Amino acid sequence: MLTTSSFSFNSVYYFNDENYIKFTKLVNRVNKKIIKENSNAATISFECSKEVLPFKEVYGHNPFNPKCSAFVEVNVVKFSDDFTRYFTGENTRILGVIDHKENIVYGDADILEMYRYSTHCDHCQKNIHRNKTLVIETEKNGKNVVMQVGGTCVKDYTGIDLSVIASVLSIQNGGGLNEREFNGGKTSAFFELREVAARTIVSIDKCGFASKKNGGENATVFHVLDSFELAGKDIDRLEASEEQYRKADEILEELKGIEVNSPFDGNVKAIVENESGLIGRKHIPYITAAIGLKYNASVKEENGSNEWIGTIGESVSLSVEVKNIKHVKGMYGVQTLYEMSDCSGNKVVWFTSREKYSIGDSLNIVNGTVKKHSEYKGIKSTVVGGRGMKVSVK
Ligand SMILES: [Zn+2]
Repeated sequence: MLTTSSFSFNSVYYFNDENYIKFTKLVNRVNKKIIKENSNAATISFECSKEVLPFKEVYGHNPFNPKCSAFVEVNVVKFSDDFTRYFTGENTRILGVIDHKENIVYGDADILEMYRYSTHCDHCQKNIHRNKTLVIETEKNGKNVVMQVGGTCVKDYTGIDLSVIASVLSIQNGGGLNEREFNGGKTSAFFELREVAARTIVSIDKCGFASKKNGGENATVFHVLDSFELAGKDIDRLEASEEQYRKADEILEELKGIEVNSPFDGNVKAIVENESGLIGRKHIPYITAAIGLKYNASVKEENGSNEWIGTIGESVSLSVEVKNIKHVKGMYGVQTLYEMSDCSGNKVVWFTSREKYSIGDSLNIVNGTVKKHSEYKGIKSTVVGGRGMKVSVK
């Protein structure tokens, strides 16, 4: 006999929907067995609630990215009690079952290790070979002692068959279906709304706003999704500054009050008003688009004027600052797109196959031709270019 005072009972498990169904079936099966053996015995019961939990490793969402910071909805199962106690009375706890033939331990492996090589029965005091033994912790003369009961004596001792006890222990250990099994399950991922909004602003500050239609794989929404989902050290995590978070909060607050004139507006409003502060993956395009609209509008206001420059076909000379550089795949290969702004804040765009300038450079444009006046989401821009156009850094 061994003296012990340590007993840990893990009472909370996390299951995805698929495993939760398997788990409840397992519990029902074992409860039927318990009732069949002893109709007075207590059956296994548990509480289950749906919770959204942050996971460092989000399985079922993107198993390749250990840094993914999304959230998953799980079924949280809580056992109110150690059910094996019902079979043994108040002062005794079942620690586990040893299958000596298969060399498997059900329950607390640390304590059972000590009994692994002996099948002595502390109940009938006989030391004969047994396939299975039950290990219990019980109070004897004011002390907690660990005892082993031979498989054939278990029913006599507890009133219930050893195989049923082993099943109950297995369930109390998560039934082999606990959180390690998230990989295969269909969990739904959630993202923090504020984080999505802030990263959208970081993306727009760095690269400007691009819709799926205009930006293709460089669209803002993919930039934001990649920052959450893709693995690798080269992925831009779009870390927001305090100012960018503040701006995100401000725009989200504004979006709560938007007038609903389209299904898009209605969806955006519903998403930002959700009290959980969490959004699904499918909601991300709504948020990046809504933030793009609002943020571009606020950038426009801050920058002052937004007018077209010159007349199409005419020659212009301009003093501009490079605000953003994009790469556009087209018929003639990859072209560089410089987004610039003149001193009044008017937007100037230049497509070229040369890439010599950087964001923040002040440029002098001489003898450029106004190619086009375009307008996108309320922002007017003047496209310049032409063979005779000369560009130099100030
Ligand atoms: Zn015995």
